[in-house]
Amino acid sequence: MTADNTVLGRCPHCEHPVPETELVIDYQTARGQRVTTATCPHCVTMVTVR
Ligand SMILES: [Zn+2]
Repeated sequence: MTADNTVLGRCPHCEHPVPETELVIDYQTARGQRVTTATCPHCVTMVTVR
């Protein structure tokens, strides 16, 4: 964990901070809700960060 990296959010499974460098896709739903999908470095799986 480095303070220099921008954190997208936290993994919903393990609460580990997910850095911007792990970003997979970032989009807005029709309802205007922002959804950020990234790879959690702890779970090593794709998660929707919150
Ligand atoms: Zn995780």
